[in-house]
Amino acid sequence: MKIGFIGLGNMGLPMAEALQKAGHDVTGFDIAVPPTDIISLATSAELAVAQCEIVILMLTTSHVVSRVLDDIIPHLDKGTIVIDCSTIDVASARTCADSCNEAGIAHLDAPVSGGIAAAAAGTLTFMIGGDEDIVQAAHPLFDIMGAKIVHCGSSGAGQAAKICNNMILGITMIGTCEAFALADKLGLDRQSLYDVVSGASGQSWSLTSYCPAPGIGPNTPSDNDYKPGFSADLMLKDLRLSQIAAGETGADTQMGALATELYRRFVEEADGSGQDFSAMLKRLTS
Ligand code: NAD
Repeated sequence: MKIGFIGLGNMGLPMAEALQKAGHDVTGFDIAVPPTDIISLATSAELAVAQCEIVILMLTTSHVVSRVLDDIIPHLDKGTIVIDCSTIDVASARTCADSCNEAGIAHLDAPVSGGIAAAAAGTLTFMIGGDEDIVQAAHPLFDIMGAKIVHCGSSGAGQAAKICNNMILGITMIGTCEAFALADKLGLDRQSLYDVVSGASGQSWSLTSYCPAPGIGPNTPSDNDYKPGFSADLMLKDLRLSQIAAGETGADTQMGALATELYRRFVEEADGSGQDFSAMLKRLTS
């Protein structure tokens, strides 16, 4: 397939390169020139998407996604499929889908979970919102970039799943870090805490797959001086999206609100910016 790929940052570049290596014809564009000799680069978004059957976006915010869509929609053929893999708010994802549909263009919101390592390995999880026939048409591409593909429902459902997942992740990471901090105060060895909780009812992905305590459990960013991984800044972004959605829908998410505030303080008032989100343990124990 001829694919235009806009946004070749930490996540987008390995995804675009995986599609090219699998035999697709990928032309990319990013405002910062990305380091690649695997895909072709265009000098504008409009040129990157010309005559493409598929356009994939992997951008930062809803504002950027809307601006890029405004630029490229007039240059897309009817029937083109736009797949937006950026993490943005649910309402904006639906608005983007409407803008595409009005121009005869199909749209899927397809945010991902798994981070940079999974993007490079082609093992991302995709959470998809949009029409079933469009999801099926794009499935071979998702299969190249991902290991788990879940069609969550109509437009916006992918983004809804993503922010619900990451609200749980933010809350459980803080809870896990608090437990290690409490164990330290109680004189309980961190390895003993891990050995008990990893097989007990307090177990979670934050503990057993992404342990915030260095030297314990699998190799994680805590073993690499908390170099991201998944940055505290991106966690704050996703928690804020969860709270926008909670505000719009009247959902009662008090733990989510507190996690958002704790990550806000960590990123904006302490040294959390640029560190992995599991570095919250250092903050709680310093
Ligand atoms: P990134 O900042 O590394 O990449 C974004 C890229 O978009 C940058 O290279 C930037 O130059 C480019 N860009 C910005 N404005 C542009 C424009 N107008 N036209 C073309 N390119 C433009 O971010 P990332 O880590 O690749 O994340 C991308 C998305 O994936 C975000 O929404 C993020 O929340 C989400 N996400 C990231 C991770 C992760 O671990 N990094 C995991 C899951 C989801």
